[in-house]
Formats: sequence, structure tokens, C-alpha cells
Amino acid sequence: MQTRETFIPLSVPNFAGNEKAYVSDAVVSEWVSTGGSKVSDFEAAVAAYTGMPRAVACNSGTSGLHLALLAAGVGPGQEVLAPTLTFIAAVNPIRYAGAQPVFIGCDDSLCMSPAAARAFLQDRCEKRGGKTYNRATGAWVSALLVVHVFGAMADLPAFLELARQWDLVLIEDATEALGTRYTAGPLVGRMAGTVGDVGVYSFNGNKIITTGAGGMLVSNHPDWAEHAKHLSTQAKADELQFLHDEVGYNYRMTNLQAALGLAQLEQLEGFIAHKHARWQQYKAGLDGKNGYRILDFDENGIRPNKWFYSLYLEDPRHDRDGMIAALKVRGIQTRPVWALIHEQADYGKNEAYALEKAQDYRAKIVNLPCSTNLSEEDCQRVIDTLLEL
Ligand SMILES: *Cc1c(COP(=O)(O)O)cnc(C)c1O
Repeated sequence: MQTRETFIPLSVPNFAGNEKAYVSDAVVSEWVSTGGSKVSDFEAAVAAYTGMPRAVACNSGTSGLHLALLAAGVGPGQEVLAPTLTFIAAVNPIRYAGAQPVFIGCDDSLCMSPAAARAFLQDRCEKRGGKTYNRATGAWVSALLVVHVFGAMADLPAFLELARQWDLVLIEDATEALGTRYTAGPLVGRMAGTVGDVGVYSFNGNKIITTGAGGMLVSNHPDWAEHAKHLSTQAKADELQFLHDEVGYNYRMTNLQAALGLAQLEQLEGFIAHKHARWQQYKAGLDGKNGYRILDFDENGIRPNKWFYSLYLEDPRHDRDGMIAALKVRGIQTRPVWALIHEQADYGKNEAYALEKAQDYRAKIVNLPCSTNLSEEDCQRVIDTLLEL
């Protein structure tokens, strides 16, 4: 058994702020469920932080993405362009909505490649009557779902242009990217998640801030945000009479979760500074040594949140899984990047396009410990252990 002192986890929460005080407020007030003022306070705080008029709390990033697709009108018979290199929760909601993903490869940001998406649209699709159709399947291609992988900014100007040209809704999975923003250029000041038609954040336990589990939706269409809220609360049209005007969901966040979220949000900028400092330490300690690279984030006019760090194994003699196992024995938790979704059990029949880079990154990336309470000493231990292996 590893002791607590010697085990270095991949990514764990950091509750050094007002978490206990705010959660205790919620318990003392007896508002622990989906009523209570902290949910609306947390919605207002995330709206203010992201510069959006409204934010809609929900019980996970996954449910937020489902609501985003429903609010966007994505439904049966439609196709959505989505990345293959991502967590499966980005894609499953497309199926929940009755639509099908078409998988697109990544660029060196690890996010969906706009060039590959453009090539797919040009080579395989056609526009008729203001809509885009996939020539092979005949399906209406209605949306682009872009993921800001590991807190990197996907190339939103390019995706906005594609969305405009091909009449696609632009959905941003910003579940990993709260705080990532433009610092220069035409989108200066805009946050990841707030540029497309609708965006979603996650507060799962491993994300940059956590509510235990939770999510938040923002939209540039006020009526979409309201519709998402309505769907998340059982589509209740009349509270007293229990009238429901469509099929809704119980996707609500609780007051307890929101209490945690309020305390976490207060610390977000500090967490991001910490993520940057540890990334820099890994970069200085490992990049260019032993056939290791630490993948860069594009910081040209962008402030990424640097949520997760990617060690790229350049040397073909590196054995990724052997390395992960050797690190585990030494009390260091790491993981490979996700298996590609077009290779997962239920997605093998979906179209997949321009996959080479995604396959390469899938084979060669190991994610390193990145908690916001990872100390400089522990980070150095990870570096030294990797250099010894
Ligand atoms: C975490 C995550 C989600 C889902 O968020 P949950 O809150 O865990 O449901 C969706 N997409 C990506 C890319 C994620 O990393």
C-alpha cells in the first residue's frame, strides 16, 4: 500500500478555500437539494466570469451537452461533426439526441482539425436549400461539436467560418476549458465556451474546478439557454398543476453542489496560475530529454487554462503502457490519452475522417499528474522518475 504522502495522483480536487463554510451554510439552511439560492448564485457567478448574460446549471457536463444539442434542435436523422480524440461523454449525447456523429481527426492542439472538417465538408457534403447534406448517407449535417481538449483553445475563428459557410450550429464542449480565453485578436476577451452558439462546462471531480459532479451551459441565444433550463427541470409548465409541455429531464444541480462551486470559482484564477507553473516545470525538466516532449499549448493571443499536461513519447522505443505501470509502482498515477471514439464498441460503423494525427497522439501521449495542489517537490519527483526510467 502506498501511503498518502508518497502517492502522487493524476488529478484530484483542491478544497483550500471557502468550501466547508459554504457547504455548511447549505446544510444549516436545510436547502440541500435542487432548491435554494446557491444554485442561482453559482449560475450568476459563472455568467459573470464568462461574460455571458445567463448560465444554466445542470448535474453534469454530459447532461449539459445533451441539453445543448436539444436546445440547438439536433435530432433524429441528423449528423454532427465531432472529434474522435476526446472523452466519450462529448459524443454520447449526440446519440441521446437521436443523431449520429461523424468523426474528424485532430491537429497539433489535440482539438478537432478545422482543415480536416473543411475537407470533409468539401469532399463529402453538398449544400441544398440552406442545409448541408452528407452525400454518402443523405443525412442533414446540422452541427459541429468542438472540444477544447485539455484546456487548449480549439481554432474558433476557423470553426465560426465553417459554421457560417455550411449553415452548421457550433457547439463548444468547454468541459475541460473553463478560464481559457483569447487575449488578442478578433475574439479578444472571449472565453472558450462563449463563442459558438452554445457551450458547456463540467465540474466533475477531475476538472479544474469541481462541484463533485456538475455542469453549466451558456448560449449566445437567450431562448436556447431558457429552453435548456426548462428541459433540465422536467419541462414544468405549471408548477402547482404539474403540467409539463414536453419531455423533460431531471438534470438539475443541487444547492450543495453549487455551494462547492461558489467556493471553487473564487480560486479558479489561482488554480490556472498553478497549472501554468507546474506545466513550466515539466517543460523545463523533461522537454527534449530521453525522447520526451511536453506538448505545447498555443499561447499566441490565447490564455489556456492548461488543465491537463501531455508527455509525448517521441522515441519509438518508448513503451507507453510499460512506463505507466512502472510509474504506478513508484506511486505516480498517469494515464494514456483516450482511446479514439470511432474505435469504441458502439461507434465502429460511424464515418471517420482524417485520423492520422489522432492515431499518433493516441499511441504516444501519457498524461502527467496535474492537480492544483501538486507541489513543486512532487512534480520534481515525477520528472526525476521519468528521467530514471
Ligand atoms: C469531463 C468531460 C465531459 C463530461 O463531463 P461530466 O461532468 O463528467 O459529465 C464531456 N466532454 C469532455 C471532453 C470531458 O472531458
